[in-house]
Amino acid sequence: MSEVFDAAANLAAIAARIEAARQASLTPRPKVTLVAVSKTHPAEKVEALLRAGHGVFGENRVQEAQAKFPALKSVWPGLELHLIGPLQTNKVKEAVALFDVVQSVDRPKLARALAEEMAKQGRSLPCFVQVNTGEEEQKAGIAPGETEAFVAECRTLGLNVVGLMCIPPAEEEPSPHFALLAKIAARNGLDQLSMGMSGDFETAIRLGATYVRVGTALFGARQKPQL
Ligand SMILES: *Cc1c(COP(=O)(O)O)cnc(C)c1O
Repeated sequence: MSEVFDAAANLAAIAARIEAARQASLTPRPKVTLVAVSKTHPAEKVEALLRAGHGVFGENRVQEAQAKFPALKSVWPGLELHLIGPLQTNKVKEAVALFDVVQSVDRPKLARALAEEMAKQGRSLPCFVQVNTGEEEQKAGIAPGETEAFVAECRTLGLNVVGLMCIPPAEEEPSPHFALLAKIAARNGLDQLSMGMSGDFETAIRLGATYVRVGTALFGARQKPQL
């Protein structure tokens, strides 16, 4: 590593920004949870954050998470790992065994596979339904207009749906997307909203985010670019 990674300082800076945004919110949430997105970053950096008192992490690929987190979890049993990326059904078994929260439930086939595997493993992971608020063709997620029916379907399957997640279109002002997600969540009686990344987490919090997914602003730039 070319630069020193000061986990405690970075964490304190992000925590202060989260708290300021929370207080500035029109309807302040009692709690906003920081999901430290550690994709592409080495386990040493995750461990530095754990030592600094942070325990919630996000990864977008099962294989990468499997390479880093089982060892960390054995030392830090309180560690909570969120899956924030697309999940193939052939990786559902590994994902259910390793992750503690699934934020990217984005299609009926995956919902069925997750429900079946959680029952098999006796693990009921909190789930977020990913909503494609920009209705982008290449992006994963349920269309806003289909969210209500999909949430109902997930519940029928026995999934513990706690909230909604979105990734707004890269080139657009994110606020309308965050507001839309909040509206759909309220309509469906869902309390949790996972929205906001390094560039826009304060905006997301002002619009009701309860989980923000922050990578770059916490860990520094990723070496190999990855979505
Ligand atoms: C990588 C990623 C993030 C974090 O992005 P940053 O801009 O580095 O904060 C958040 N959410 C998802 C789904 C991601 O894949």
